[in-house]
Amino acid sequence: MEKLIFATNNKNKVAEIRSVLGSEFEIISLKEAEIFIDIPEPHDTLEENAREKSSFIYALKNQNCFSEDTGLEVDFLHGFPGVKSARYAGDNASDQENKNKLLEELQESTNRNAQFKTVISLQLHGKEYQFTGVCKGIITRHEKGENGFGYDSIFIPEGSNKTFAEMDIEEKNKYSHRKKATQLLIHFLNQKNG
Ligand code: IMP
Repeated sequence: MEKLIFATNNKNKVAEIRSVLGSEFEIISLKEAEIFIDIPEPHDTLEENAREKSSFIYALKNQNCFSEDTGLEVDFLHGFPGVKSARYAGDNASDQENKNKLLEELQESTNRNAQFKTVISLQLHGKEYQFTGVCKGIITRHEKGENGFGYDSIFIPEGSNKTFAEMDIEEKNKYSHRKKATQLLIHFLNQKNG
Protein backbone atom coordinates (compact mmCIF):
# COMPACT_ATOMS: atom_id res chain seq x y z
CA MET A 1 0.00 0.00 0.00
CA GLU A 2 1.34 3.42 -0.98
CA LYS A 3 1.87 5.65 2.08
CA LEU A 4 1.65 9.39 1.59
CA ILE A 5 1.68 12.27 4.04
CA PHE A 6 -1.05 14.77 3.20
CA ALA A 7 0.33 18.16 4.22
CA THR A 8 -2.78 19.69 5.72
CA ASN A 9 -4.38 20.39 9.08
CA ASN A 10 -7.85 20.61 7.52
CA LYS A 11 -9.96 17.61 8.65
CA ASN A 12 -12.56 18.20 5.93
CA LYS A 13 -9.94 18.03 3.19
CA VAL A 14 -8.53 14.80 4.66
CA ALA A 15 -12.02 13.25 4.77
CA GLU A 16 -12.80 14.29 1.19
CA ILE A 17 -9.53 13.00 -0.22
CA ARG A 18 -9.73 9.75 1.76
CA SER A 19 -13.21 9.17 0.34
CA VAL A 20 -11.76 9.30 -3.19
CA LEU A 21 -8.48 7.45 -2.68
CA GLY A 22 -9.80 4.06 -1.62
CA SER A 23 -7.76 1.37 0.04
CA GLU A 24 -4.70 1.30 -2.25
CA PHE A 25 -3.32 4.44 -0.68
CA GLU A 26 -2.79 5.27 2.96
CA ILE A 27 -3.04 8.96 3.75
CA ILE A 28 -1.39 10.27 6.88
CA SER A 29 -2.40 13.76 7.99
CA LEU A 30 0.15 16.13 9.50
CA LYS A 31 -1.27 15.45 12.95
CA GLU A 32 -0.96 11.68 12.43
CA ALA A 33 2.63 12.21 11.25
CA GLU A 34 3.16 14.23 14.45
CA ILE A 35 4.04 17.35 12.53
CA PHE A 36 2.55 20.28 14.41
CA ILE A 37 3.42 23.13 12.10
CA ASP A 38 1.32 25.64 10.23
CA ILE A 39 3.10 25.74 6.88
CA PRO A 40 3.12 29.25 5.38
CA GLU A 41 1.33 30.07 2.12
CA PRO A 42 3.27 33.19 1.10
CA HIS A 43 2.89 33.12 -2.70
CA ASP A 44 0.58 34.70 -5.28
CA THR A 45 -0.46 31.47 -6.98
CA LEU A 46 -2.07 28.23 -5.84
CA GLU A 47 0.65 26.32 -7.70
CA GLU A 48 3.50 27.96 -5.76
CA ASN A 49 1.75 27.64 -2.39
CA ALA A 50 0.99 23.97 -2.98
CA ARG A 51 4.64 23.38 -3.93
CA GLU A 52 5.85 25.30 -0.87
CA LYS A 53 3.85 23.01 1.43
CA SER A 54 4.78 19.69 -0.19
CA SER A 55 8.48 20.53 -0.52
CA PHE A 56 8.57 21.74 3.08
CA ILE A 57 7.26 18.39 4.34
CA TYR A 58 9.45 16.38 1.98
CA ALA A 59 12.53 18.25 3.23
CA LEU A 60 11.45 17.69 6.83
CA LYS A 61 10.56 13.97 6.66
CA ASN A 62 12.17 12.70 3.46
CA GLN A 63 8.88 10.87 2.80
CA ASN A 64 6.61 10.93 -0.23
CA CYS A 65 3.85 13.44 0.38
CA PHE A 66 1.38 15.79 -1.25
CA SER A 67 -0.32 19.04 -0.44
CA GLU A 68 -3.14 20.97 -1.99
CA ASP A 69 -4.12 24.60 -2.23
CA THR A 70 -7.61 25.70 -3.21
CA GLY A 71 -9.08 29.05 -4.20
CA LEU A 72 -12.49 30.41 -5.10
CA GLU A 73 -12.25 32.53 -8.27
CA VAL A 74 -15.20 34.88 -8.71
CA ASP A 75 -15.85 36.30 -12.20
CA PHE A 76 -17.32 39.62 -10.99
CA LEU A 77 -14.13 40.11 -8.91
CA HIS A 78 -11.85 39.21 -11.87
CA GLY A 79 -10.78 35.93 -10.28
CA PHE A 80 -10.44 37.27 -6.74
CA PRO A 81 -10.17 36.10 -3.93
CA GLY A 82 -8.45 33.07 -5.59
CA VAL A 83 -5.23 32.31 -3.78
CA LYS A 84 -6.31 34.78 -1.05
CA SER A 85 -9.60 32.93 -0.32
CA ALA A 86 -8.67 31.93 3.24
CA ARG A 87 -7.73 35.52 4.13
CA TYR A 88 -10.37 37.32 2.05
CA ALA A 89 -11.87 39.21 5.01
CA GLY A 90 -8.46 39.70 6.63
CA ASP A 91 -5.67 37.66 8.21
CA ASN A 92 -7.14 35.01 10.54
CA ALA A 93 -10.64 35.64 9.12
CA SER A 94 -13.21 32.94 9.91
CA ASP A 95 -15.15 31.09 7.19
CA GLN A 96 -18.22 33.08 8.25
CA GLU A 97 -16.44 36.42 7.86
CA ASN A 98 -15.14 35.44 4.42
CA LYS A 99 -18.60 34.36 3.25
CA ASN A 100 -20.24 37.51 4.63
CA LYS A 101 -17.73 39.69 2.82
CA LEU A 102 -18.26 37.86 -0.48
CA LEU A 103 -22.06 38.05 -0.27
CA GLU A 104 -21.77 41.76 0.48
CA GLU A 105 -19.37 42.42 -2.42
CA LEU A 106 -21.70 40.61 -4.82
CA GLN A 107 -24.91 42.19 -3.50
CA GLU A 108 -25.44 44.37 -6.58
CA SER A 109 -24.09 41.86 -9.09
CA THR A 110 -26.20 39.68 -11.35
CA ASN A 111 -23.05 37.88 -12.53
CA ARG A 112 -22.71 35.20 -9.83
CA ASN A 113 -20.34 32.92 -11.77
CA ALA A 114 -17.37 31.48 -9.91
CA GLN A 115 -15.13 28.44 -9.81
CA PHE A 116 -13.21 26.49 -7.24
CA LYS A 117 -9.71 25.49 -8.29
CA THR A 118 -7.58 22.92 -6.48
CA VAL A 119 -3.90 22.34 -7.19
CA ILE A 120 -2.32 19.20 -5.74
CA SER A 121 1.46 19.11 -5.47
CA LEU A 122 2.95 15.63 -5.14
CA GLN A 123 6.54 15.01 -4.02
CA LEU A 124 7.55 11.55 -5.11
CA HIS A 125 11.13 10.46 -4.45
CA GLY A 126 12.26 14.08 -4.62
CA LYS A 127 10.43 15.07 -7.82
CA GLU A 128 7.38 17.33 -7.93
CA TYR A 129 4.20 16.74 -9.98
CA GLN A 130 1.04 18.88 -10.03
CA PHE A 131 -2.63 18.05 -10.70
CA THR A 132 -5.44 20.58 -11.10
CA GLY A 133 -9.21 20.26 -10.66
CA VAL A 134 -11.80 22.92 -11.38
CA CYS A 135 -15.49 23.11 -10.46
CA LYS A 136 -17.61 25.85 -12.04
CA GLY A 137 -20.75 27.14 -10.40
CA ILE A 138 -22.50 30.14 -8.94
CA ILE A 139 -22.44 32.10 -5.70
CA THR A 140 -25.87 32.12 -4.05
CA ARG A 141 -27.50 35.19 -2.50
CA HIS A 142 -27.97 33.48 0.87
CA GLU A 143 -26.33 30.68 2.79
CA LYS A 144 -27.88 27.24 2.63
CA GLY A 145 -26.88 23.91 4.21
CA GLU A 146 -24.87 22.81 7.21
CA ASN A 147 -22.30 20.38 5.78
CA GLY A 148 -18.79 20.95 4.53
CA PHE A 149 -16.59 23.95 5.25
CA GLY A 150 -15.24 27.19 3.85
CA TYR A 151 -17.50 28.68 1.18
CA ASP A 152 -19.57 25.49 0.72
CA SER A 153 -22.86 27.02 1.93
CA ILE A 154 -22.83 29.77 -0.73
CA PHE A 155 -21.66 27.76 -3.76
CA ILE A 156 -23.86 25.76 -6.14
CA PRO A 157 -21.90 23.64 -8.62
CA GLU A 158 -22.97 23.54 -12.28
CA GLY A 159 -25.45 20.68 -12.83
CA SER A 160 -26.99 20.88 -9.34
CA ASN A 161 -29.48 23.08 -7.55
CA LYS A 162 -28.02 22.45 -4.11
CA THR A 163 -25.11 24.16 -2.39
CA PHE A 164 -22.11 22.00 -1.50
CA ALA A 165 -23.19 22.42 2.14
CA GLU A 166 -26.49 20.66 1.36
CA MET A 167 -24.62 17.61 0.08
CA ASP A 168 -22.79 14.78 1.83
CA ILE A 169 -19.21 14.04 0.75
CA GLU A 170 -20.28 11.45 -1.86
CA GLU A 171 -22.60 13.93 -3.56
CA LYS A 172 -20.05 16.77 -3.39
CA ASN A 173 -17.59 14.37 -5.03
CA LYS A 174 -19.76 14.22 -8.16
CA TYR A 175 -18.78 17.82 -8.87
CA SER A 176 -15.83 18.67 -6.70
CA HIS A 177 -12.61 20.40 -7.78
CA ARG A 178 -10.76 18.42 -5.09
CA LYS A 179 -12.11 15.10 -6.37
CA LYS A 180 -11.06 15.93 -9.95
CA ALA A 181 -7.51 16.81 -8.89
CA THR A 182 -7.35 13.71 -6.66
CA GLN A 183 -8.43 11.44 -9.52
CA LEU A 184 -5.56 12.76 -11.64
CA LEU A 185 -3.22 12.05 -8.71
CA ILE A 186 -4.53 8.47 -8.40
CA HIS A 187 -4.23 7.87 -12.13
CA PHE A 188 -0.63 9.11 -12.05
CA LEU A 189 0.32 6.97 -9.02
CA ASN A 190 -1.30 3.89 -10.54
CA GLN A 191 0.68 4.37 -13.76
CA LYS A 192 3.93 4.82 -11.78
CA ASN A 193 3.22 1.65 -9.86
CA GLY A 194 2.83 -0.18 -13.18
P1 IMP B 1 -6.93 26.60 1.55
O1 IMP B 1 -6.67 25.71 0.37
O2 IMP B 1 -7.07 25.81 2.80
O3 IMP B 1 -5.94 27.74 1.63
O4 IMP B 1 -8.37 27.19 1.32
C1 IMP B 1 -8.63 28.50 0.83
C2 IMP B 1 -10.01 28.93 1.25
O5 IMP B 1 -10.98 28.26 0.46
C3 IMP B 1 -10.37 28.67 2.70
O6 IMP B 1 -11.19 29.73 3.14
C4 IMP B 1 -11.15 27.39 2.65
O7 IMP B 1 -12.07 27.27 3.71
C5 IMP B 1 -11.85 27.52 1.31
N1 IMP B 1 -12.05 26.21 0.68
C6 IMP B 1 -11.10 25.32 0.29
N2 IMP B 1 -11.67 24.23 -0.25
C7 IMP B 1 -13.00 24.43 -0.20
C8 IMP B 1 -14.12 23.64 -0.59
O8 IMP B 1 -14.02 22.51 -1.09
N3 IMP B 1 -15.34 24.20 -0.37
C9 IMP B 1 -15.51 25.43 0.18
N4 IMP B 1 -14.50 26.19 0.57
C10 IMP B 1 -13.25 25.70 0.39
